[in-house]
Amino acid sequence: MYHLPVLKNRRTLLERAEKFISDIYFTDCNLRGRLYGDSCPLESLACFLTPKRITFAEASKQIFDPCKVGDTFGPTWWTCWFKVTLKIPESWRGKAVHLLWESDGEAMVWRDEQPVQGLTKEGEKMSYILSECLQDEEPHSLTLYVEMACNGLFGAGQGSQIAPPDPNRKFSVQKAELVVFNGDVRELLTDFEMLVDIVKELGEEEQRGYQALFTVNEMVNLCDPSDPSSFAKVHSLAGTFFNQRNGESQHTVHAMGHCHIDSAWLWPYEETIRKCGRSWVTVIRLMEKNPEFVFTCSQAQQFQWVKSWYPGLFSSIQHYVKKGQFIPVGGTWVEMDGNLPSGESMVRQFLEGQRFFNKEFGRYCKEFWLPDTFGYSAQLPQIMQGCGISNFLTQKLSWNLVNTFPHNTFFWEGLDGSTVLTHFPPGNSYEMKGKVEDLVKTLKNNKDKGRANHSAALFGFGDGGGGPTQLMLDRLRLVQDTNGLPKVQMSTPDELFTRLQADSALLCTWTGELFLELHNGTYTTQAQIKRGNRQCETLLHDIEIASSLALYRNNTFPYPAEKLQELWRLLLLNQFHDVIPGSCIEMVVKDALKYYEDIRSGGAALLRDACEALVAKGSSMAVFNSLPWERLEVVQIQEGAEKSGLALVRASSIGVSPVKDTPPVTPVSVTVQADGTVVMENGLLKTAINRDGTLASLCLISANRESISDGCLGNQFVMFDDVPLYWDAWDVMDYHLQTRKPVAEVVQPVHVVSPGGLRGSVSFTLRISDKSTITQEIIMDAMCPYIKFSTEVQWAESHKFLKVEFPVRVRSPNATYEIQFGHLQRPTHRNTSWDWAKFEVWGHKWADLSEHNFGVSLLNDCKYGYSVHKDTMTLSLLRAPKAPDATADIGIHHFTYAIMPHTRSFQEASVIQCAYNLNFPLRLIQCSPDTVPWSAFSVTSQAVVLETIKQAEDRGGVLVVRLYESHGSSVTATLRTALPVREAWVCDLLEKQDPNQPVPVTSEGITLDFNPFQIVSLLLIM
Ligand SMILES: [Zn+2]
Repeated sequence: MYHLPVLKNRRTLLERAEKFISDIYFTDCNLRGRLYGDSCPLESLACFLTPKRITFAEASKQIFDPCKVGDTFGPTWWTCWFKVTLKIPESWRGKAVHLLWESDGEAMVWRDEQPVQGLTKEGEKMSYILSECLQDEEPHSLTLYVEMACNGLFGAGQGSQIAPPDPNRKFSVQKAELVVFNGDVRELLTDFEMLVDIVKELGEEEQRGYQALFTVNEMVNLCDPSDPSSFAKVHSLAGTFFNQRNGESQHTVHAMGHCHIDSAWLWPYEETIRKCGRSWVTVIRLMEKNPEFVFTCSQAQQFQWVKSWYPGLFSSIQHYVKKGQFIPVGGTWVEMDGNLPSGESMVRQFLEGQRFFNKEFGRYCKEFWLPDTFGYSAQLPQIMQGCGISNFLTQKLSWNLVNTFPHNTFFWEGLDGSTVLTHFPPGNSYEMKGKVEDLVKTLKNNKDKGRANHSAALFGFGDGGGGPTQLMLDRLRLVQDTNGLPKVQMSTPDELFTRLQADSALLCTWTGELFLELHNGTYTTQAQIKRGNRQCETLLHDIEIASSLALYRNNTFPYPAEKLQELWRLLLLNQFHDVIPGSCIEMVVKDALKYYEDIRSGGAALLRDACEALVAKGSSMAVFNSLPWERLEVVQIQEGAEKSGLALVRASSIGVSPVKDTPPVTPVSVTVQADGTVVMENGLLKTAINRDGTLASLCLISANRESISDGCLGNQFVMFDDVPLYWDAWDVMDYHLQTRKPVAEVVQPVHVVSPGGLRGSVSFTLRISDKSTITQEIIMDAMCPYIKFSTEVQWAESHKFLKVEFPVRVRSPNATYEIQFGHLQRPTHRNTSWDWAKFEVWGHKWADLSEHNFGVSLLNDCKYGYSVHKDTMTLSLLRAPKAPDATADIGIHHFTYAIMPHTRSFQEASVIQCAYNLNFPLRLIQCSPDTVPWSAFSVTSQAVVLETIKQAEDRGGVLVVRLYESHGSSVTATLRTALPVREAWVCDLLEKQDPNQPVPVTSEGITLDFNPFQIVSLLLIM
């Protein structure tokens, strides 16, 4: 049946077929040129511009001025609303009619006051279907509205994608017309394209590729683009090829539509709302036509936005969720960063997310979905399991710069031993296009061949939204079971994971964190966002505890559940994986900082109300301690108090204590030496501070042990050149370490600020450059086992990295870093590539370097970037990237870190407690003079931290308390409480009571057993 191939020339046959469907060459005579038939201009086009993102109701009331195709609109971030009137010619009866719209701004079509179709050139969506087959009774004259944003799919970057947005860009409409769409040509084009791609992807090694080549060549022979009657034969020839099936053993690709929408990145939060609208309404249109189409969609926040901005669309989504096509996934409020949020924040991501999904869609997600985040905490498996999730999908580790991650499908074992079944789609993408290349890559890249015979392929434009297209669906449908390619089925994450789980006997296990060997600058970039996150996490922690206690100290106190939820949701939103890492544009930074201000101001009022309910009013002072241990600390009390406003206060565990100045066992002494250096001593520590603020010595008195390495200086500020290869805000590269320069120029040498007694302190100023300075106060408090470095930096650098170093007299192959609900070790050497790739790592409130019976800890109150190499502990302070925010980190910064030498292990030395103390200041309250100390909760074991106390969701009279084992030990601990607890039950992290796990409440308290790093949540019924 084939025409005889004349020559044995693969290349000419292949290129011949390519040209036959080219949209550049020979469109006058090839098949592509026939995709559209007649066209017809619009009846009229008119528009109005607005700087705001407004509702349809508001927009439709405006006055529209005439405009034409080719006109430009702007500036960037404005919106242009178009009124489109059109008339379909009678003669197009029986034909498919599209409105073709080509603009470089993302657009949404509105019809009958409803959003009906997203139009995004970069997302290959440029037509709105007016009729599939025009009938006489259909409306021929219509008025539509098109809402065009003056930004593209990736914002408005100048030149490079991640360049800061150009504020003055203009956006044009290049095409707006009616056309006849030839569906039969589209169908054939897809046949041709898939065959051509099979020839190319299978290469010259595989005979199947040649079968595709001769098939597609014969199709060109048979196809006359000008004669549609020739198409059927051509299509059937393609069908013969595509229907030649695979054997039973072939790998199965589970195709899932997806649309990764960054909740803010190169565009602000507000634009994301419209991106969701545009992308998801398009998905609904596709579902109407393709009943097999499955679409996975994450981030409860985005659903919440669509619910309030596009209620009609949200109802359609609910309908398709019920049908099992629109699949909410992930279980979290947003796709958050996987490193920086605290343990409690991570729990709240799931709590808010899962509760939302259950309320709106009647289902909890079964999989955690985080394809695009810069590393994954070793505590995530336990947190997932605690939230009803045992499957995890990501792919970002394929971005590792140094080492190739060895698995695609495996069990991930977390810090406490919890495991989750984990899948990295082998195609290494969350935005495939349903092309042959995607399928072949999925098959070839799979690192678990023979162990896992199923993989996911997520298809649809992403990052800036867009999502799947009809063409992607057509491609996948064509090759469901075509010999030579993997089998393809439209699938849900649940179906995929069920298949993987059923056949998991040979899967490997990866233990510990999933560290991304890239984007390690994101632990430091945008320091104000990091600080906002830490401070607001702390504030919400304190409000919840104070409010929970207030319920039982004052029976008229209303627990501010709704307001707290609102503040938590703002905090969780800012933990999105391009906001808290600092990889967003300036507009987003401003929004994020405003949200932190909202949390701070709203939170301050809530905390004040709760604290006032804890004590009787009066003119005396008390402190509120939100931490589950007693504290003895120097506190700055209000003006008018004695002794320069300081007092040494003993504060009871989780409770209130009157301020009664306790005289210190040993007061702080401050001595200025003849050479200008200063010696400070508090009976625990003795330090010698040079004129430039470096520490010449730091001695742990009880052990008579010097902490600073021989011949070295502690508190040494150092600058590095910080020019990455591309991802400016994201990446710090290994080679920056070769550019180390100490900050040495003294502007103002060390001088005494606090003379000793309760507090000794000195201050100094260093010059970094003619634009930047550091001013620091080094503070030693009576009875305090660490020295605080309260720092202000005026920062106006470009592509520089500021760090502070402490070379310490400790030798150990590993350093320890605090993470969510625990800690882990990372190497201090560079033996293997896996070791040296961790030249810059993240930690939370502390890092420690210990040998047997001695160590040094470096604490901080808002930093996340660390490194420990050999004996040098380094805290990363400030960066200065220029993209995507040219102003990143320019300005004044405040932060505090602390150094703490100790004997024994860091666990026994209470480093964990000290780092909490540094981050959770005692809060002052006005009270009556007869206030007595009161403690609501305490825990008998130092290993167990009572992290959270809150009112249970939707359950007045019930508190949730969350504790975790922090030492990495198996212990039994008793939770003691002064509150009237009647019953206690174990619950999961979603606060679901475990009916099989009541916990006895005795006069001693509630006794619990813990495994290393175990998180335990209890419901306390009053
Ligand atoms: Zn993303």
